Amino acid sequence: MLDVSKIRADFPILSRQVNNKPLVYFDNAATSQTPQPVIDVIVDYYSNYNANIHRGVHTLSQEATDKYEIARQTIQTHFNAKHAHEIIFTSGTTHSINLVANGFSALLKKEDEIIVSALEHHSNIVPWQMLCERTGAVLKVIPMNLEGELIMETYDNLLSDKTKLVFVNHISNALGTINPIEYIIKKAHAVGAAVLIDGAQSCPHIKPDVQALDVDFYVASAHKVCGPTGVGMLYGKEEWLKKLPPYQGGGEMIAEVTFEKTTYADLPHKFEAGTPNICGGIAFGAALDYMNNIGFDNIASYENELLAYATEQLSTIEGLKFYGTAKHKTSVISFNLEGIHPYDVGTILDKLGIAVRTGHHCAQPIMDFYCIPGTIRASFAFYNTKEEIDVLVEGVKKAKMMLS
Ligand SMILES: *Cc1c(COP(=O)(O)O)cnc(C)c1O
Repeated sequence: MLDVSKIRADFPILSRQVNNKPLVYFDNAATSQTPQPVIDVIVDYYSNYNANIHRGVHTLSQEATDKYEIARQTIQTHFNAKHAHEIIFTSGTTHSINLVANGFSALLKKEDEIIVSALEHHSNIVPWQMLCERTGAVLKVIPMNLEGELIMETYDNLLSDKTKLVFVNHISNALGTINPIEYIIKKAHAVGAAVLIDGAQSCPHIKPDVQALDVDFYVASAHKVCGPTGVGMLYGKEEWLKKLPPYQGGGEMIAEVTFEKTTYADLPHKFEAGTPNICGGIAFGAALDYMNNIGFDNIASYENELLAYATEQLSTIEGLKFYGTAKHKTSVISFNLEGIHPYDVGTILDKLGIAVRTGHHCAQPIMDFYCIPGTIRASFAFYNTKEEIDVLVEGVKKAKMMLS
């Protein structure tokens, strides 16, 4: 069991007031908060050993390089990658996806097919559309049902020997649906396609094992797992990372690269041009350490309790409609009040110190599917409490009264 009050004491921001009310932070799917041990690592870096890495013989540079490479190993261990050089530091999930999409420009030809899902974040749709424009490849979409689950029968039918790449998120940021990625990966491999899984939304809740999944690429952002913004990672199987051309150097140039003509630095440096976010990478490692100390099994079971409680309490409100009621979902609740714009509800909740997200959550196709402009999304983390959910429920009731 979690000692939630002890955990909350680790997060300085959780004791601040917003609009003269105690902050209730329910926007964890957009970004998570940062605990003191991670803040300490950031302060320590700039106070004691800020230096450029992999270049200097001097002590500070050695220290920074060591810590950065230790962080890479922490990430490797966390995801159970076979090699540390299969972990590429990036600026985040979006960067990681673009890196792979650019790499595939050199590998795809006209009429090859890429499959994505209807549940994707914009950062998972646009790079593939751009890739299709460049290569003449065709984008296919796995549709969803009303519960917010992907329809696997259609996926089976979409797969063929033309399929070169399948891309889905592990967990949908808009609805919280946990997708059956084991099945998706197995089926894609059966037709010889590679699979990239967007783990931005799953990593705060589950600890993925990339070898057990046998996934080709897996991507995540540090800021959703209690780390800083502007840093993330790409896991790629060694054989794939060797096959893909480097990303930075300019998109135009990358389209011209062929494997015969070009030689690259060894992995992982081939994909890490320029001075990286050194402090961020080190803090990413510290954030994973922090979460592993709490334990992902503990986190998941506590968050499931919060999800069940919030679902039960919110469903007592008449005219409240949930979006995304998948059997397997994580602690994200998307809902609307009948006849009321989500933005107006969000504004009133903010006055009460409650941070939720309103809008399309960078997933407009999902909103189009439901024919709505957006939803109110409350997303819970392991440092949230049932008392905070009570505050939310009261706030939603109040908003409903004021707006209807
Ligand atoms: C947050 C998120 C992203 C984008 O992550 P960035 O850190 O902004 O690059 C992509 N996919 C999903 C599912 C997300 O939740």
